[in-house]
This record gives sequence, C-alpha cells and structure tokens, in this order.
Amino acid sequence: MNDEIVEDLQIRDGEAFAAYLLRRGYYDEKRHRGSRRKHSWVLPSRLVHHAERLGLASADRLVDENTLVPVLYRFLSRSDEAKLIGHHLGEPSLGITGMVGLTVSLGPPLRWAPGICLCCMSDDMEMYGHTFWRRDFLLPEIRWCARHNAPLYRLCDPCTIRFGTGRKFDMPFYRCLCGRPLALRPTTVHSHERELAKGWQALLDSNFAPFIGSQEIAALTNSRARELGLVTDEQVYEDRCDDYFGAQRLRALGKSIDFLFNSKPVANALLGQGCMRHPVHGIFLLVALFGNWRDVENLMISQSEYLEALDEGLVMIET
Ligand SMILES: [Zn+2]
Ligand SMILES: [Zn+2]
Repeated sequence: MNDEIVEDLQIRDGEAFAAYLLRRGYYDEKRHRGSRRKHSWVLPSRLVHHAERLGLASADRLVDENTLVPVLYRFLSRSDEAKLIGHHLGEPSLGITGMVGLTVSLGPPLRWAPGICLCCMSDDMEMYGHTFWRRDFLLPEIRWCARHNAPLYRLCDPCTIRFGTGRKFDMPFYRCLCGRPLALRPTTVHSHERELAKGWQALLDSNFAPFIGSQEIAALTNSRARELGLVTDEQVYEDRCDDYFGAQRLRALGKSIDFLFNSKPVANALLGQGCMRHPVHGIFLLVALFGNWRDVENLMISQSEYLEALDEGLVMIET
C-alpha cells in the first residue's frame, strides 16, 4: 500500500466527523430494526464505536477536535453537558438538538448547508493535498472565517439538496457541484458578523479558556448589562434594552440568526440567571453588550486563569 493513500485516510484537525465518515465511504448505519440512519454533521454520535472500528485516536480527542462540543458545552448546565458528551461518545440522545438550542438552525432543509472558506481550502490543499469539510463552518449563523477574515460560501440550493440526500459524497471545491460559482452565505453586512465569527472560533478551541462555562458566561453577561444600566437585581429595563440594541442597528443581524431580543431566555441571560443555549446567540449577546469580541476574550482569559489557579490551590483566600 502506498504511503499517500494511508495518509489520506487520516482525520484532519477540525474536519467535521460525519464528513470524515463519508470521505471514508461510511454513508449510514443500520439501526436495530433494519432502517438506516444518516450520520449527523452537526451532532454526530457513537464516536467510541467509530474510533475503534476505524482505528482512530481516542474518542475524547475526536470530540475535542472534530465536533462542536468544545463550544456547545460552554452554554449548558452540568447535567446537560454530561448528556451532550454521552450523545457524542455513545448512542444518540433524544431531544439533543433542542437541548443545544439548534432546532431552528437545523430545521428547514434548505437553511442548513456546510460552509466553505476559499482560503482555508487553499491552506488545506497545500498542507494535505486535499480539501475537507471543516466543523467551524457547519452552523448557518456563521458567515465569516475568523482565521482569514474571509466570507463563507456554500453550495447552490439544488446542489445542497442533492448533496444532502444523494449517495455520492463530494469534497468542498472552488466551484459548486453543478459547475457554477459557489453561493455566498446570506449576510447582513453588519460588522458584528465578523465579531461573532471570532467568538465562535475562539470558543470552539478546547484549549481556549477551558474553565469558561455557562456560569461564567452568565456572570459576564450580567455584569456588563448592569454596567450599561440595562438591568438591576431582578428587573430588565426593556425600553433601555430596545434603545441600546437599536442604537447599534442590531435588529437585522439578530433577526437573521433568529435571536429574539424581547424573549424570556434573553431576559434571564441579562439577569445572570441562565445562559443562552444556542452558542451563536450567547456569543451575539456578549458581542452586543461589549461592542467587540476582543474585550470579551480578554475577560474570559483572565477569569479562566483565576479559576485555574483556584482549582490548583494557588489563590490565597483572604480571611
Ligand atoms: Zn479560512
Ligand atoms: Zn450547484
């Protein structure tokens, strides 16, 4: 067997796990009653089984590098976090899509299509000699590649349907499957779309601020909302929120990602009583409150360092 073929069978850093299975020719699996199940691109399951069967690195590493878990878990409670990990490592969990807030994102068939960054594709060609589908661009709410500050593309609508239902698998390419130019993902041209992408990329890295989870995000969201005078201990000032978000012209961008400004989950997040489950919604709220991702990231890093030191017993508690 020649070395290049062996090399091509490896899963790449950041390659969407289901896309890797398809690349290897594993289209679907038999269920107990004989029906077939397609591999989920956004929320894959049975990674322990697949890792053993395909002779891959540990399933835990696959979860970290080839799924969306590193960003999804940060917006969930401890018990939901365990359910999310269980779903990925073992058998699929019922209601998992709703639990991570992605029901609408993945609902209508045409909304979902994997994204493509032309610059990432060129880098991958240079490094590996082939392209692959990246986990970073699976959610339709992400319209930019934060690494390259470049817009994301997708297949045209007819090709998306064919791609989703057919038995033939294609790697991403510089043109659509039909030969026409790739379509751009819909965008609102708001500068915060790039900030959202930066936040998404940062939180998707399991090494970035690993101690930052839903409690820390809720606290960060609440402290900034207080600073801005949008909330007190128990009350959300809806008029002030309307003025604040309106002044930043965030309505269209919010609407385009199905973010409901005057909803109970947003009120709870502003009050620090919970965290938005949908990761892009949670990041959007932080970016809207702080005005950019860099300030959020700096606070997360400093909080994470503090929490890590606390965990290792390095922080002296004053009495
Ligand atoms: Zn890129
Ligand atoms: Zn096409």
